[in-house]
Amino acid sequence: MSKIVRRLRGIFRHLNDERAFTLVELLIVLAIIGVLATIAVPSITKAVDGARLKACQANISAIEAAAELFYTDYGRYPTTEELKTDKMVAYFKDNKFPECPLNGGYSINEKTGKVTCDHKLPGSE
Ligand SMILES: [Zn+2]
Repeated sequence: MSKIVRRLRGIFRHLNDERAFTLVELLIVLAIIGVLATIAVPSITKAVDGARLKACQANISAIEAAAELFYTDYGRYPTTEELKTDKMVAYFKDNKFPECPLNGGYSINEKTGKVTCDHKLPGSE
């Protein structure tokens, strides 16, 4: 009899193994990871949106500089329709017109040469 009990203890000894994690310990660790993720994710997405906004502002500056070059060549600012044409694209590196990283479209004031973007900021709808 005691031989059978000893054998069963041998088979199930891992159930009382102190080195293993209990379910409660695992749940506590998962809860901590969840709290950290809820803190980190919004600040990361906010930083990404901020970077995209800065990139759009840099594009606007580049387009305005190109519009000034266009002005010296043609004596007027380009129209919004002309922005992406070959005439205007020639003033950009690699002949590529910059695209708004927030999926906006650029338009230009033909009298002042000021460029604006119609993108919507995420979460501002
Ligand atoms: Zn934009």
